[in-house]
Amino acid sequence: MKKMKLRFITLLAVLCVLFTACTDNAVTTTDNITDVVTSADITADVTNGETNAPAEDTQEPQETQEPQETEKPKDTTAPTTKPAETEPPVQTNPYDRPITPAKTYKPVFSVPAYTNKAYVAVNGNEPFFTEDEKTTVAFEFYGELDSLKRCTYTFACVGEETMPTGSRGSISHKPTGWVQNKYDFVESQNLYNRCHLIAWQLTGENNNKQNLLTGTRYLNVQGMIPFEDMVGDYVTETGNHVMYRVTPIFTGNNLLADGVLIEGWSVEDEGDGICFNVYSYNVQPGVIIDYATGENRADPNGPPKADPNASASYVINKGNHKVHKADCGNIKDMNPDNRIDFVGTIAEILAQYPDASSAGCCHPY
Ligand SMILES: [Zn+2]
Repeated sequence: MKKMKLRFITLLAVLCVLFTACTDNAVTTTDNITDVVTSADITADVTNGETNAPAEDTQEPQETQEPQETEKPKDTTAPTTKPAETEPPVQTNPYDRPITPAKTYKPVFSVPAYTNKAYVAVNGNEPFFTEDEKTTVAFEFYGELDSLKRCTYTFACVGEETMPTGSRGSISHKPTGWVQNKYDFVESQNLYNRCHLIAWQLTGENNNKQNLLTGTRYLNVQGMIPFEDMVGDYVTETGNHVMYRVTPIFTGNNLLADGVLIEGWSVEDEGDGICFNVYSYNVQPGVIIDYATGENRADPNGPPKADPNASASYVINKGNHKVHKADCGNIKDMNPDNRIDFVGTIAEILAQYPDASSAGCCHPY
C-alpha cells in the first residue's frame, strides 16, 4: 500500500513538472507568435508607400511599435520583456496609419500689419499641405514645446473618429505670455483665453500644453472659431476628413504669438468642401500688448470706432439691441428668432434702434 501511495505521489510530481513545462512552452510560443505578427505589420507598413521619405524611415519603427503596445492584451502577461516600454514617449496615432509629421514646421509667408480684419488669406487661400501629407486616415500630432516652452504647431487629419464623445474638462496649464487682465470692453472681460490650437470639438484635446496658446478673446472668437466651426460642421455633415494644421507665429523670443496660421483642406472631395489658408491676428482692439512678455494695457484712445457713415453688414440682437459685425463669431450662439440682419450704416441703425449699443465682442462702432 505504501509503495502504491509513493508511486501515486511520484506520478503526481511528474505530472506537475510536465504541466509547468507545458505552460512555459505555451508562453514562449505566444511570444513568438506576437513577434512574428509585429514583424509582419512593420513590413506591411513599410510596403504601404512610406519608403519614399527617408526622414520618416528612421522614426517609423518607433511609431509602429507604439500603437501595437496598447492594442495587444498579451502584453499584460509579460510587460517587462518589451524594450519599447522604456522608450521615451512618441506621438501616438490611435487609429491605423503610423504618421510622422515633421518635428518642426516653419511656414514662410508674409502678411500686412493688422488693420481691422481678424484674419487675412495667405498664399491665395491655398494651404501648404504636400501630397505626401494628405491622407484619409485620421491622426493627431502635437509638436513639442520649444526651448522657451512655447507651443510649436499641431497637425491632424480630422474625422468623426477624432471628435470627442465625452465632456470637456478644466484646463490648468498657463501658456507662455499669460498675463491676464480684465477690460470692460472685452467680451467676458478677460483679455486672454487659453486657445486650443486644434479645437476641442475637432480632436477632443483639452489640457494638452502642446495644444494651448495664449490668445486674445478677439483671436479666439473672431479669428479661430469661425474656421473650427466650419471644419467641425463639414466633418459631421459629410463624414469626410479634413487636413488641419495650426501654427502659432512668434517674433524672435517673444512669449506671446503675433498670430496663428490655420490651414484646412478636405480630403475626400479634394478641397471642394474645405480649403483655406489664413493668418489670424492675436490682437485685441483697444488693448496695447507687449508681445515680448504678454503684458498689456488699455489703449488711451479706447477701442477703434468704425466710420458711422460707412455701409456694412451687421447683426442686431432683437432682445437687447446689441449690434454685432456680420462676421462676429458669437452670432452662431444667437437664437435665430432674435436675429436681425442689417445692411447699412451705424447712423441708420441708431435712427431705427435708438437704444442700440456696440457689442463688446466685435466692436462694430
Ligand atoms: Zn460680436
